[in-house]
Amino acid sequence: MLKSYKYRLYPSKAQSLLLEQTLETCRHWYNTCLAERKEAYENEKRSVGKFEQLRKVRELKRSNPYATNVHSHILQVVVQDLDKAFQSFFRRVKAGETAGYPRFKGRNRFDSFGLKEYGNGFKVDGRRLKLSGMGRLRVRWHRPMEGTIKTVRVCRQAGKWYASFACEVMERSLQPTGQSVGVDVGVHHLLATSENEIVDNPRWYRNAQAKLRILQRKVSRRKIGGSNRRKAVSALQCQHEYISNSRKDFLNKVAHSLITRYDFIALEDLHITGMVRNHHLSKSILDAGWGYLKQRLADKAVEAGRHVVLVNPSYTSQDCSNPNCRRRHSLSLADRWFECACGLSIDRDVNAALNILWVGQTHWDGSTDNSLRLSQEAPPLPWHSPYTPRTSRGRWQV
Ligand SMILES: [Zn+2]
Repeated sequence: MLKSYKYRLYPSKAQSLLLEQTLETCRHWYNTCLAERKEAYENEKRSVGKFEQLRKVRELKRSNPYATNVHSHILQVVVQDLDKAFQSFFRRVKAGETAGYPRFKGRNRFDSFGLKEYGNGFKVDGRRLKLSGMGRLRVRWHRPMEGTIKTVRVCRQAGKWYASFACEVMERSLQPTGQSVGVDVGVHHLLATSENEIVDNPRWYRNAQAKLRILQRKVSRRKIGGSNRRKAVSALQCQHEYISNSRKDFLNKVAHSLITRYDFIALEDLHITGMVRNHHLSKSILDAGWGYLKQRLADKAVEAGRHVVLVNPSYTSQDCSNPNCRRRHSLSLADRWFECACGLSIDRDVNAALNILWVGQTHWDGSTDNSLRLSQEAPPLPWHSPYTPRTSRGRWQV
């Protein structure tokens, strides 16, 4: 299985200039390829494929003085990324979802480039990362990397540089514990389990959100194009990064604790997009966190040999979880406590978690296949870190 390891890079002044230049060249190449596809389709109803554009990389390197210094694999990965964007666009169109056509990337909207073969264009040289044409970059190896390195992606995030290595590693199963759990996600708590365990939103969460609002306001009061606005934007980006890092850290710990304690985890399958539209539920503030937790649980389950099952949440909070009763009640969101004529009296979310566990266990066919694989083809190195919240306000005009 593939696992990715991300490390902070500390390029020298000259190196960061080269990195910026590479990004800019890639961005232009991306836009060129996108324009070619678009025009070919609009004018001649012809679709331009990935391989056709991959072949043009050599030509580009000959004709464009900027591209000459960029490793051809980097330019090929740009074509692959664009192709991926088109594939997911077509997939969404087919599924009848609202699909956005791949966009042209403006300045500051292109943040990463990749290399696809270890030893060809990049390699780990001593304690540094050697990139073709850029020399040896300083890396903060904050944790040991395992397995064999396959690809690397260099990305820029809030003015900092990172390298994500995709490594092929062995799966390491954990000892079975014989325990099962149901997990309910709530408005009042972050989550509640069938074992009567309730995890609240951490205390820093509200403070960090408040600070975000202040910084956002600062940006919108600065003049577009001014240097004060640029500074305000970078402060805002840093705050976004800080929040996303703290959230990820927290959720990883939650996922780890669930995976180590339970063999079987039944999760409420929330439909986030529908939920965000409902302002009364105000789950929108939880959406990014919930999606991330689901993904982390699924990925960790595959590695640890655990089972994660998604459960349709309808009626899980209304039904009585007593196995001999299962009566359906009508509850409003304000009812925090669940009481039934059968004598059951428990927290509303714990009742829901018990139901989720029950539904999960009855519907699971017990297949030996490791968990319901949520990420069929775990994209090892996506465009941006996929879990950074990108709301409509997540990007800024400088
Ligand atoms: Zn009952």
